[in-house]
Amino acid sequence: MSETPTPHPEQQRTAIYPRSVKGFYRRIKTAIVILAYGVYFLLPWLRWERESGPSQAVIFDITARRFDIFDFTLFAQDIFWLALLFAFAALLLFFVTGIAGRVFCGYFCFQTLWTDVFMYIEHRVQGERPARIKLAESKWNAQKIFKIGLTHFLWLLVAFLTGIAFTLYWGNAPDLIVEILTFQAPFAAGITILFLTLTTYVMAGIAREQVCTYMCPYARFQSAMFDSDTIVVAYDSIRGEGKKGRHKPSKELIKRDKREQQGYGDCVDCGYCVQVCPTGIDIRNGLQYQCTTCALCIDACSKIMTSVGYPKGLIRYSSENEMQGKRTRILKPKTIIYGLVLVAVAVIFFWGLIARSVVDVSVRQVRQPLFVVLSNGDIQNRYAIKINNKTDRQMWLTVSLRGLEGAILDLGRFDKIHVSAASSSTFYVKIKMPPRKILKENKSFEFVLTNINEKSSNWTHTDNFFTPKKLFKQSVLNK
Ligand code: SF4
Ligand code: SF4
Repeated sequence: MSETPTPHPEQQRTAIYPRSVKGFYRRIKTAIVILAYGVYFLLPWLRWERESGPSQAVIFDITARRFDIFDFTLFAQDIFWLALLFAFAALLLFFVTGIAGRVFCGYFCFQTLWTDVFMYIEHRVQGERPARIKLAESKWNAQKIFKIGLTHFLWLLVAFLTGIAFTLYWGNAPDLIVEILTFQAPFAAGITILFLTLTTYVMAGIAREQVCTYMCPYARFQSAMFDSDTIVVAYDSIRGEGKKGRHKPSKELIKRDKREQQGYGDCVDCGYCVQVCPTGIDIRNGLQYQCTTCALCIDACSKIMTSVGYPKGLIRYSSENEMQGKRTRILKPKTIIYGLVLVAVAVIFFWGLIARSVVDVSVRQVRQPLFVVLSNGDIQNRYAIKINNKTDRQMWLTVSLRGLEGAILDLGRFDKIHVSAASSSTFYVKIKMPPRKILKENKSFEFVLTNINEKSSNWTHTDNFFTPKKLFKQSVLNK
């Protein structure tokens, strides 16, 4: 499949006025847009029952350094899982691209979804493609100012609502919306709404296909994942061009067999496939990197083929091999390897997420100073115990020592330690060794922490008790 040369970025942009089209793929795209908008705008309002009480189903709480996604809670220290999730998403994208081309761009990308809605608004306000072209070419008058002004106002409104909805994921939505509406929202929320409003307006309203053509890196490297078996939107040039090329359906060339006899292909050169294309390309020139695989040209051509009584499929999802009469091989070594790696990462991710510890305990010896000699001759070491409680329940823990005969554990004013729900606390404990028990060398021992409410939950940590050699010698002499 051929690739058209890349236009220079400074080349003047040709305005695109996509014509609307009805059909199978358009219906799929509309359903995805409705679903995506529904999820995006309504999800912050969905409540969820947690152990700590009712809360927001999906909330990214930066101040508490935790992300709640239904029953999963990710803390700042779980960033590894987030990284693994991104790695999984990237691998999935590569895998799908190798098989089905830029299907993500055409159906699921935010840029595509939001541009689709902005184009719908433009269409409703300014009319179908010919009316929009006429309006753009007409002189400025009251009607033009009204229509263009209303379009931009509605774009800005959608962009503003997009910004607000995004912000609601980062705080308690019912409280935050009141703060936003009464201009009492935090500064960060205001800046986020402003940023999202402007970027959505510019990307989906003004830049549109330029984002996919010039700004998106995926458009550039996706061809590296393509091969002759990749399913893309393709024009069947053998059928469409025949021996003599495409031809308008004149009186003598309306019947298919007549066209065939005269050597003309099935393409009636109506240009509908080009007019509906949101990136303004002609798919009959072959695969082009600007094509987002939205399949609207398939709907357009199918409609034309049906109206002239020819079989559909002149433009269709196909592979280069299939277009050349060969077999499309979906299952090949490259796909299988990608698939296996994907499954392995998915298993690691989900297993790890389910099996991950909900309580992290770490202990480190205080090194400044490494030890102190108390007035009664005891040698004292200090340790910092850090407990990260990722549950929605508060915890009470007892601390004991294992393997350090004669040592005295000092928890200060407490006999057990308390960690609030979904929080992290550090406690300093002292271990004192009386002179008569002073050891010859450093001694390895274990801290044992036991959850009072769930006796089965306990954690051990191995550490060292430091004894300076000269003190040991002194203690021997003193005995
Ligand atoms: S060529 Fe067809 S599939 Fe590609 S972007 Fe244009 S309309 Fe969509
Ligand atoms: S819509 Fe079909 S028939 Fe019309 S120009 Fe495109 S490929 Fe040819």
